[in-house]
Amino acid sequence: MTEQADFASADVLAGVPSDVSTGGGVDVAVVLERAAAGGRISAEEALVLYRDAPLHALGSAADTIRRRRYAGTEHIATYIIERNINYTNVCVTACKFCAFYAAPKDADKGWTRDLDDILRRCAETVELGGTQIMFQGGHHPDYGVEYYEKHFSAIKKEFPQLVIHSLGASEVEHMARISGVSVAEAITRIHAAGLDSFAGAGAELLPERPRRAIAPLKESGERWLEIMETAHELGVESTTTMLMGTGETNAERIEHLRMIRDVQDRTGGFRAFIPYTYQPENNHLKGRTQATVLEYLRMIAIARIFLDNVAHIQGSWLTTGKEVGQLSLHYGADDLGSIMLEENVVSSAGARHRSNRMEIIDLIRKAGRVPAQRATTYEHLVVHEDPAEDPVDDRVVSHLSSTALDRGTAHPELRLVDAR
Ligand code: SF4
Repeated sequence: MTEQADFASADVLAGVPSDVSTGGGVDVAVVLERAAAGGRISAEEALVLYRDAPLHALGSAADTIRRRRYAGTEHIATYIIERNINYTNVCVTACKFCAFYAAPKDADKGWTRDLDDILRRCAETVELGGTQIMFQGGHHPDYGVEYYEKHFSAIKKEFPQLVIHSLGASEVEHMARISGVSVAEAITRIHAAGLDSFAGAGAELLPERPRRAIAPLKESGERWLEIMETAHELGVESTTTMLMGTGETNAERIEHLRMIRDVQDRTGGFRAFIPYTYQPENNHLKGRTQATVLEYLRMIAIARIFLDNVAHIQGSWLTTGKEVGQLSLHYGADDLGSIMLEENVVSSAGARHRSNRMEIIDLIRKAGRVPAQRATTYEHLVVHEDPAEDPVDDRVVSHLSSTALDRGTAHPELRLVDAR
């Protein structure tokens, strides 16, 4: 047995009954030990672990892998300060889990932000110490590549310090169709205009059956990955996501991970994997199914174990709650995501969790880690080693303006700075 395997097995196998084994001849203890020691596991093995491994053994294996990957900085967990600027809610795609969009025919419900408003939101982000903009909105029937070129170049001209980490394959597919160009051309042009990286929204569930059930008008999962692969080949990296809890099976969740891992083996362009949970309010699915906390933690852990080629796993406190976010740091996550200075999409469907910079720092510290503010590319910008030197700006607070709840009038301007 190697030195690495000794290190792994001491933690991981405590608590795994020696007789735990399951269908298909997969022995949970053996697979966990191999994974924790750095070995790759198959999708079949991942499904068995996801379903049957004792929870703490699964988390321990994932945490062992995280600690080894980040040896030297394994005591740190990161967060980022960003603003999610929603430029329009008008969308032709009508996803069944979405509470944010307005169909073009519902003119009284649709809204768009003009460029001045968007730039004001960027200015506030800079003032509050934010480093990243997510530009997230509907598939507007008129917004082609030119719209994004105009807005990204304007943002970069005024705020070159802001990283534009935005959009995903679905938006690229849509804008390319509107403009009558290839996705490669669309990616090249918006990258040249200022897009730094793709946020990977729209992955939802990649396997065909659950994707068709919740987003029948979106491109296929294979096509979504093909576009992200094109982006990676063109030098635009991304994160990737997974929407849990809309009725998909365990096997389909693992298949989602397999599809990502296969692309990542070729491109290496996915910086992080971010699972989050379906929110049940104000959408067509009506909350008939939802992922549990334990399913979520198991997903964080199995993602760390199975996605051996993806560096970062993010725990989503926004959809699962702060305590679950803290727990995720012990199940393989190394990052707690962002203090969203503004968010309208997930909150419209019921996510009510809010936080602020001081609280996020405290949550991470109380989870036993040293907090660090990170850049989009995960470099540590500030490591909060000494609580006496913690930042004290109480304006760095997440705002869920949930515009859909009040037909676009809840917080139409959402001023974070001037209103105080
Ligand atoms: S999730 Fe995005 S693409 Fe789907 S309906 Fe909502 S805004 Fe449109």
